[in-house]
Order: sequence, then C-alpha cells, then structure tokens
Amino acid sequence: MNKSFSDHESECVGFSRTCEDSKETAEIGISTTEVCSFDKTTEPVATRSIEVQTTERSSQKPATIDDSALLDFMRRFAPRVEEELRKKNKHFGSEYTQAISKNEDDIPTKKITSLVKHKTMEKGKIKHISWSCYGNKIALSVSHMKHEDWCKHDSYILIYSCDKNEEFTNEAQECIEINTCIMDMKFHPSLNSLFVLATEEGKVYYYNLSEKQENNSPTVICHNNEKITQISWVTLNSQTCLAVSGADGILSLWVQLTLAENWKQLKKFTFKSIEDTTERAINCFEFSTLNSQNFIVALERKLLLRCSTAVTSSSLIDSEFLNPTISEYDCSSTLITCIRFSLFDEYIFATASIDQQIRVHHLNEKTPISVISTEYVTSTLEWNHLQEEVFKNCSMNGEIQFYNYRKNALVKTLKPSDEIISAAFKVKGMKQMFAIADSAGDVSLWQTSLFI
Ligand SMILES: [Zn+2]
Repeated sequence: MNKSFSDHESECVGFSRTCEDSKETAEIGISTTEVCSFDKTTEPVATRSIEVQTTERSSQKPATIDDSALLDFMRRFAPRVEEELRKKNKHFGSEYTQAISKNEDDIPTKKITSLVKHKTMEKGKIKHISWSCYGNKIALSVSHMKHEDWCKHDSYILIYSCDKNEEFTNEAQECIEINTCIMDMKFHPSLNSLFVLATEEGKVYYYNLSEKQENNSPTVICHNNEKITQISWVTLNSQTCLAVSGADGILSLWVQLTLAENWKQLKKFTFKSIEDTTERAINCFEFSTLNSQNFIVALERKLLLRCSTAVTSSSLIDSEFLNPTISEYDCSSTLITCIRFSLFDEYIFATASIDQQIRVHHLNEKTPISVISTEYVTSTLEWNHLQEEVFKNCSMNGEIQFYNYRKNALVKTLKPSDEIISAAFKVKGMKQMFAIADSAGDVSLWQTSLFI
C-alpha cells in the first residue's frame, strides 16, 4: 500500500483536493477525518493548510446544503449531470463517497431475488443484461450463443420492472420477439424507457417502452450488410450518440436530435490504411468516459488501436470514411473481448481477452502497465463505480474478482454462482447491485458493498 502511494504521488494530491472540495460537509457530520488523517501520513503540510481552508470556507457557505442527499438525488434522476460534473472535477462527490465508505461493513453480500423464469428462456441463453438508468427496469436478451452462417434463430428481449416496493418480483412485463440472433442490447444512459438492440443480420433497432409503437415495430437506426458486433452510448460534444461497430470493419456514430426525428449518421470510421486495405471485423470498442474524443478499437487478427474522433479530412480513406487510428498497442497477441475506460482517469483503460489476461493500459504507452492472469474466461469486466483503482471481473466459473490494478493484486472474491455467462452492475444509493445469469436461464440479483 505504501509502495502504491509513494509510486503515485498524484494520488496523495488527489486526496488532499478531496478534503478541499469537501469543506462544507464538515458541518453536516460527514467525516473528512479519515481522509485527512490518511494524508497526514504522507503530506502533513498540505493537510494543515487544508484545515485552515475548511474553517474559512465553511463560514462562507450556507449550512443547509446536504451534498450527500443532492448527489443521491442526482444519481437516481439525473445521472448525466453527475457524469458531466465529474468530467470537470474527478473528485466531485467524493465527500459523499467517504460517507458511504464509512458504512461499507454494514452492506453484506447477499442475494436479493431471482427473476421469475420466462418460457422463452428454454429457447436460448441469456446473452446480455442491461439495467435502465433509474435501475427500475432490467432487460435480458435471450439468444443463441453460436449459429451457422444463415441465422434465422428466434431471439427475445424480456423486460422486468420493479414493483411498488422497488423489488423485481414480478414476471417479465414485456417479451419482444426478434427473428435473428441478438448481438448487443443496451438501455439509454439517461432516458429510462429507451433501449437499443443490434442483430446478427446487421440491423440496429430503437425501442421506446413508454409508448406502444405501431404494430409493435421499432425504429430502425441503421441496416448494415454484415452483423453488428457492439453498440454503445457515447456522449460527444454534449450529445448522446450511438456508436455501432460491425463485422464489416466500420464504426459509425448516430444521433437523434429530438425523439421525433430520424436518426442521422454523424461519422463513419474505417481502420483500413492506404498501405493495408484489408477489411478487419471490429470485435469491440470503447470510448473514454471522461474524454470521449479518445476511443480504443479491437479488431480481429489481434489489433488494438488508439483512435480519436478529432481526425481531420487528411485521414480520409475515400469520400465517405475517416481513419481515426493514432497508434497501435502491443499486447494484442490475443483476441480482445472487452474494453473498459477508467471512470476517474481519462488515460487508463483495461481489456479482457480470451487468453485469460486482463491488461491495464495507459493511453500513451505502447505496452500495458499491469497484466493480471485469471483462471477462467471473463464474461464481464467493469470498473468499480466509486473506487478509482478497483475493477471487477466476472468469470465463467461464477466468481466475481475485484482487483486493484495499482497493487496488481486480487483484493476480494465473491462466488455467487457456479457459472456466470452474463452480468451487469448498477449503483444505487448505498449498495452495489448486480445481476448475473447462468446457462440454465437463472437470473439472480445481488447486493454487495460499494467499497472493496
Ligand atoms: Zn443465430
């Protein structure tokens, strides 16, 4: 631990700023003492100056503002606002974070409930799980994991909603049938009833659950010639866009300016170069959470690329496409299945791959800064929402391992099941909740502490 912090002095500075930011909370009983005393072991001088600031500033602020209540409200009802504020200041909300961490021992890991099984679950596997932005809906995709060249498998989207006690005890509220395999599915990041799904036959559909669409037919956002490999919501220049990647090696960005308008294509990227025009399917991609101009793309044949949306027309491959590639990372001797940018540091991202290695990269460094070997293949990789250096890895053997990448160490393991084929995390109030599915179609909801 000491090594970790002496290696990363910016961390100490970060904690000091936390104290500065949390000046007004001193009066409402949220303790900053833990963090300040932590600083005392590393930067005693800085800490003393902060204590002086605390006194001065608290006299200037109204004592009635309850930051923790405000942040909790925003987290539930305006998650985008919190996201934007954290982009400006990565320590935004950290006083609330400390208040929660004080209670971490009070939050046991336990199963909350199991979703009521639906008859369609016998027809396929649960490939994807997505929580709506308010956390009161869960969507499951039931689809085939593998298919022959010609895909005509029946697939289903099941929507479960909370009852008035905020519990998922009811049967699936909706079952949407799709006549081809589902490749990806995501709820909208700020509109609770909207979700998108992508199919094997190359279409991306957009559903609004709050209104019965005519003949139950969704809007088609785009229709590619080949299968879609991933869809993700991205905030670019304050606009929520949908990024779509395909087996045709194209990544496109789409936007709908108002709910009544059609979707428009903003940009279209390809990763061919003038020297090498080979078409490579995109396995997965990820835009930076804190600076969405930066994004990472993993291509088949083991290429991991750093890309930027800020490429100019000089990168034009032809009149239609931009090549956003800036550089290539080492380490891509394997197929990468998942990329996740840090929620706190715009330069840090992690990848999971089929060789059972999780690699943490710095955006500007060719080789990974940390490599962690896991015993089983990763089904889901996510950063811990409020802990900068911790990410979690759901393994196919049913374990969830929490790693601290700075210490290169496994810090906690949960074993909620014998198998996890898909998983999704959400954060609500004082608990970390997650949903996991096994290949028998059992979906269970769990809670654990936010801090590991
Ligand atoms: Zn299929």
